Amino acid sequence: MLILFKNGQRENDIQSILDILHTSGTEFTLFENQDRLILKIQNSSSLPLTQWQSFPQIDRVIPSDHPYPLVHRDYRPEGTVVKVGDLRIGEGAPLVIAGPCAVENETQLLETARLVHEHGIRLMRGGAFKPRTSPYSFTGLGEKGLKLLHKARQEFGVYIVTEVLDAMDVPLVAEYADVLQIGSRNMQNYKLLKAVGRIHKPVLLKRGMSARLDEFLMSAEYIMSEGNEQIILCERGIRTFVEYSRNTLDLNVVPMVKQLSHLPIIVDPSHGTGRRDLVIPMSLAALAAGANGLMVEVHPHPDQALSDAEQALGPEQFAYLMEQVNSFIRWQYHHEHSAPLY
Ligand code: PEP
Ligand code: MN
Repeated sequence: MLILFKNGQRENDIQSILDILHTSGTEFTLFENQDRLILKIQNSSSLPLTQWQSFPQIDRVIPSDHPYPLVHRDYRPEGTVVKVGDLRIGEGAPLVIAGPCAVENETQLLETARLVHEHGIRLMRGGAFKPRTSPYSFTGLGEKGLKLLHKARQEFGVYIVTEVLDAMDVPLVAEYADVLQIGSRNMQNYKLLKAVGRIHKPVLLKRGMSARLDEFLMSAEYIMSEGNEQIILCERGIRTFVEYSRNTLDLNVVPMVKQLSHLPIIVDPSHGTGRRDLVIPMSLAALAAGANGLMVEVHPHPDQALSDAEQALGPEQFAYLMEQVNSFIRWQYHHEHSAPLY
């Protein structure tokens, strides 16, 4: 059970309630989330629900015993809207995030920024710190890459999402990024999750490649329990037995997350398939499943990309993707007032 106190209540304002818990030997954790004290009670039997609700200090009681009470839909039934400047993720039309897998050099980055910007992209991706399976692969330009992202931001007015690999780098990456990405390999790096939970910038949390949905949502809970509620979930494919694609894009998870959580969810069909010929159809499938956005890898010369060349869209393919996405969005808006199909 979760007890949400009214905003601004301090520990001494709720002392009478803590006393009741102490006297009855109830186990609880008290923590603060965005200027709000929250009590998580392990066993809810100490008082009946109606009595909890009668305390003037208490805003809301969430009776369910979920392992991820803050991330659960019950916490915010109307859904969370993540704000990146004037952009809104989780409300209105789905948003496309596009850019290269990695920041390679100034020409490549600015060329990509120009291309995606021309197609109306407002949030650009690009890795400066790259997690790579082999230590001998290109692992990114580091801070120099962040500076190039900043340049693209200045020149084209695009917001930036970029990955942070290590808790120690969070302050540095947060200086340049509008959204901090936690990659698949780090979905259960709890120290990193807690570190991004303490900053005041949105976080894009990618699903681990072999993570179950409850594990994914509990990772988001780590971030939220530190106070940061601006989280975008990202499905990026899971490891299965199939051999024809890099991963299997688990689109079931999109409508499932909407039932279980208030957080927006986007889909990354680039890592989800690992093949550029599958990126456009799976992008459309993700939108049809109800995704709040897409994240796609784009490169001006895909075959020369230093990482993930096989899945990068070239300029023509990206133009075609955007044409398809925009026509889907127009269609969706056209049907906005008709009865929901699911
Ligand atoms: C990425 O988006 O750059 C990336 C490394 O993806 P993932 O963490 O999903 O493998
Ligand atoms: Mn990549």
